[in-house]
Amino acid sequence: MIEEKLQKQLQRSMFYAICIIVVILAGGGILAVYLQSEKNEAVRAQVILEAEEYKNRIRKQLETDFQILTTLSAFLEENVVADRELLAGRLDEANQNNTFLTMVYYDTSGEGVISVMGEEPVIGAKLSDLSPEGRRVIEFSFEGTASVSRLFESKLSDSRVFAYSVPVYGNDRIIGALAASDHIEIFSDILSGNTVLGGGGYIHMLNSEGDFLVRSSRTVIGEALGSIFDGSYLTGTSREEVRDAMENQERLFSEFDYEGKSYSFLLEPVGINGWYLLCVNTEDGVNSGFPSSATVIQLAFIGIVPLMIVLMLHGYRLLSNYNRSLISLAYYDPLTGCENLTRFRQRLMEVMGNTQGSVAAISIRQFPFLNEIFGKEKVIQLLCQIKEIAGRHLNQDEFFCRDTDDKFYLFLKETDQEVLRSRLEAFLYEIEHEAEISRSNYQLAIYCGVAVSGDFGNPDDVAGQLMNSVVFALERARGAHTSTIWFFDSELHKKEELENYIESHMHQALRDGEFQMYLQPKKNLRSGLLGGAEALVRWRTGEGRVIFPDQFIPIFERNGFCIELDLYMAEQACRRIRSWIDRGIPPIPISVNQSKRLFFKTDYVQVLTGLARKYEISPQLITLEILEGMALENVEELNTKIVRLQAEGFRISLDDFGSGYSSLNTLGKLKIDELKLDREFLMNASAQEQRRIRLIMEQIVRMAGRLGIATVAEGVEIPGDEELIRTIGCDYGQGYLYSRPISAADFDEKYMNGKVREQKL
Ligand code: C2E
Ligand code: MG
Ligand code: MG
Repeated sequence: MIEEKLQKQLQRSMFYAICIIVVILAGGGILAVYLQSEKNEAVRAQVILEAEEYKNRIRKQLETDFQILTTLSAFLEENVVADRELLAGRLDEANQNNTFLTMVYYDTSGEGVISVMGEEPVIGAKLSDLSPEGRRVIEFSFEGTASVSRLFESKLSDSRVFAYSVPVYGNDRIIGALAASDHIEIFSDILSGNTVLGGGGYIHMLNSEGDFLVRSSRTVIGEALGSIFDGSYLTGTSREEVRDAMENQERLFSEFDYEGKSYSFLLEPVGINGWYLLCVNTEDGVNSGFPSSATVIQLAFIGIVPLMIVLMLHGYRLLSNYNRSLISLAYYDPLTGCENLTRFRQRLMEVMGNTQGSVAAISIRQFPFLNEIFGKEKVIQLLCQIKEIAGRHLNQDEFFCRDTDDKFYLFLKETDQEVLRSRLEAFLYEIEHEAEISRSNYQLAIYCGVAVSGDFGNPDDVAGQLMNSVVFALERARGAHTSTIWFFDSELHKKEELENYIESHMHQALRDGEFQMYLQPKKNLRSGLLGGAEALVRWRTGEGRVIFPDQFIPIFERNGFCIELDLYMAEQACRRIRSWIDRGIPPIPISVNQSKRLFFKTDYVQVLTGLARKYEISPQLITLEILEGMALENVEELNTKIVRLQAEGFRISLDDFGSGYSSLNTLGKLKIDELKLDREFLMNASAQEQRRIRLIMEQIVRMAGRLGIATVAEGVEIPGDEELIRTIGCDYGQGYLYSRPISAADFDEKYMNGKVREQKL
């Protein structure tokens, strides 16, 4: 049982430990995810912020370039334009003063001047000679729009450029367009090697088709890519997302894969020509606080798990060791190493479910003195020897244990008393003769109690009953000088139990009124009327059980409690007589049984007279029944007491005459008023004996009559008994023929009402 409990406890602890690990891991996971998403959010916000910054710078650059062109265009008056030489000079000069690659002016007619950086200006250039993209922005300006071209291959500078173009006005109408081209690299200042996210990301510029306009010198992807869609770095969904976003000129966060690693990027529309900024996050050194703390937390959690597992395993080992020692403490006797009483009871309960057997308990005579005589070591040696001998004497499936001190219990699969006795005798003999102590001339004696499983009526808890009974049997075996085996006797045990109950409950019972006065009528044989009653005690326990005086009066006589009980009964009798008088019922005398201890009490006479006085009744109505045995020691003393009581008015009756050492001699000496012939006379009077008994009774009655003593015959059960006692001259009869003893209330109802009192019994 303990094993199971401990095992369960262990499992529960393990379960909790695992739960805690799971909770920690889950908590760690959630925290890591939370930190990661916080980090991502922060990074995104940062990237957007920085992309905006770049966007503004690009726009500003374009705006500055437009500003320059617009300002220049304002100075191109019609006369300047008309003079091509002058125009070419002005353009060249302007071109020298800023960073454009080429500057051109075209009339709306399509003829113009070209200034290429470092070359002689060209006069009379044809618009149709320009690249289509260059042409397109110029034609836009003819319609009044300032615009920027897409990237195109310039025929003039033989390089990839883009062009700005603004309209030129003369007299409030458009007379031509001023345009300038520049390398896309003007943004390289902004873009080359410059990073975002504190060095953790790079920026590229794309056109609306996804082609790289400017590609940062530091890239994640090593290969030269023309377009963002080149290669298979964008997975299917992000490719679609990118296309959709570019079509709608929307901002997009997405990811691409490179060499097994995922990189996030931002596509931010610049707002010019469908251009895009592409900000790639390489995750290195970005907001260093975030990734490191998240990683540290993740690592910490991952580190905790094995640590916890190690701790758990260690804890498990410690716990199971601890459990083992608990089990050994719980089930084994540390002194001899044999099983202890707990284990014995457990095993007994298990086997008694399906088998019969016996339990024997042994104990050593005068064990407490053995320590003093032989010393502790020898005593321990003796106990270990008993353990060994017990082991040798047991058959298969039998077992034993040591309880405390010298007490051992054995379970034997035997139920036959004779076999048990011989087996146990052999066992005790071996202990007596083999024990080390016995060799020192010390007469070792072992007490042994035995209880057999078949002895019990209640099949439910045979093991428990066996253990209780064997203790009683062992107690019985104690006290002898030699080894003794005592078998549990259930009848004897019941008697002992009752005695124990009586002695431990008597005081409380008297306080609680459990002792009740019953009354048995006495018939006046001459008048045929009720002549008196005898008070007989009944003990009605709290549980409603009735205990008869034969069971407790002898005990009370031994322990002296009869003094209190008899006085209580005498008082009950006085109270009853008082109640009759009070109710106007002529009282009858009540006889009360008085024990020897009470009768010889010094203040007995005073107490009794006190009672009579208290209830204001005549002592004549109280007859004191004493036993003949009281006269055995000192007739004189008894007579003195009798005379004193008679002087106070009480009557004295000698009870149970003829049951013991009755002698007519004693009768002659005692100054009693009444003699009660024991019911033995009437009971044993068989046909042959009747004559003899009748003769004896006759003699007694006659002698009593001569001494002036009234006679009462007890045990009148049949009309023949009455017939007999009447003819021999008895004065009163008492017995079941008239009535059994009944409660005082029943007695009142049956005998103490006017009409009945007049009737013969
Ligand atoms: P006892 O004083 O001789 O009382 C008569 C006993 O015989 C009563 O037993 C009564 O029930 C029984 N008896 C009466 N008529 C018959 C009959 O026709 N046939 C048979 N077989 N028995 C009959 P009970 O009440 O059990 O009392 C037993 C004894 O206990 C009494 O014998 C008396 O010695 C003692 N006793 C009873 N009450 C008290 C008491 O209050 N104090 C003391 N000290 N002893 C008491
Ligand atoms: Mg009596
Ligand atoms: Mg009697």
